Amino acid sequence: MQIKLAPGKRLTRPKQIIIDYLSVKRQHITAEQLYGFLKGEQTTIGLATIYRNLNELSELGLVRRISYAGQPVFYEYCREPHAHFYCEQCHSIHDIQVPDNSIDNLKYWQGHYIKETKIELRGICEKCLKEYFIMK
Ligand SMILES: [Zn+2]
Ligand SMILES: [Zn+2]
Repeated sequence: MQIKLAPGKRLTRPKQIIIDYLSVKRQHITAEQLYGFLKGEQTTIGLATIYRNLNELSELGLVRRISYAGQPVFYEYCREPHAHFYCEQCHSIHDIQVPDNSIDNLKYWQGHYIKETKIELRGICEKCLKEYFIMK
């Protein structure tokens, strides 16, 4: 994944590895999970480096942080705007296309400049609901 930065600027190697991973896998993962996956692929990036780079990438607007109260922060590669659904049962995160995404296009509200909007939903995912009802 070639990322456009200011002229003369390039992503550092750890950032490029992280972006390559997140953009290909299209997942929502925690820093610890990412560390585990990258370790399996024989890259030696420490957990602290992963945390620092994920934060820097989110400041660059390349990575989105998804944080639900009481849960570790999940990260994903920034693609088109979408909402997130969090399953309280299996702790998975799902992308949701909100039919009316006008909130994503909101730039100003009563004189306030809006940098970021997010819609976060929580509940029980389809898979967990099915398991629950089958068990009963
Ligand atoms: Zn679930
Ligand atoms: Zn997502």
